[in-house]
Amino acid sequence: MVCESLCKQIALCPRTVGIVCNHVCITIIESCFHLKNSRGFNMVWIPIRIDFVEPETQCTRLSSNGRRHGFPTGTATFLLDETDGRDYPFGPTCAAIRVGDKTELRGIPDFTTRDFTPSQEIEGDPGGGGQGGGLGGDGASDAEKAKAFAKRYLMLRMDRIANLPKVQQGVKYAPLTEIYSAFEKTRHLSEDEVRYIIALEKSEKTPSVYRSNNLLDVYTAYVQLNRRIKTVTPGEYFDVLISIRDNSLLRRLTLSDGQIRAAKLKLHPNAFRL
Ligand SMILES: [Zn+2]
Repeated sequence: MVCESLCKQIALCPRTVGIVCNHVCITIIESCFHLKNSRGFNMVWIPIRIDFVEPETQCTRLSSNGRRHGFPTGTATFLLDETDGRDYPFGPTCAAIRVGDKTELRGIPDFTTRDFTPSQEIEGDPGGGGQGGGLGGDGASDAEKAKAFAKRYLMLRMDRIANLPKVQQGVKYAPLTEIYSAFEKTRHLSEDEVRYIIALEKSEKTPSVYRSNNLLDVYTAYVQLNRRIKTVTPGEYFDVLISIRDNSLLRRLTLSDGQIRAAKLKLHPNAFRL
């Protein structure tokens, strides 16, 4: 990315040489409107992931009637705001408006594909994903799907599962540290990195609880268990749910059919079948 106007914000950035800038210093150049991405859009929003949201969450974008819609599916498309480095939830239509081009949303990692919660009445702009929502969205090429798979697996191993409180230590995989820290800054994976991550996921040496689908099942079950725990008053059933979450799901990364039934989880029919 190059600012052709040589604005002062870029000159202030400690990480740049000359007029060339990149994602690591984006927070410093937030007011530089000359900066464009490779397709010519102002660099403001970057698609990060489709993920679960709390029921009361509202879309970040104010619609023309001054209202914000919710997420009846309990899932949303998260975009990173480069000006503050945080990510925010949008419905798929609002997300497409924000990034300027729907094709920018292809190849976005979807963490909700193993969720089988029945859809409620959908009003306005629903969340993305859910119920078999494909990797990378409609029209993604095989290469885009592979990249989305690799990004999602990297984020599962190094962030989404690895950072769940009380989760077992083995999820975080040290050899991915360097790739992940670069990915956090650029949100980009090279073709070699995509190949390496996919090979790791498929490797016989990778324990089956660390396969992509199983980690997605862990993630989905964790979200659903916490939603249920919030609705239950302390007592015997409350303790059962806590035990299922902490002693089985987070410690062993698996649940039995009996536990899935007891917690009334709505998971993929093959969830936790290792
Ligand atoms: Zn919206």
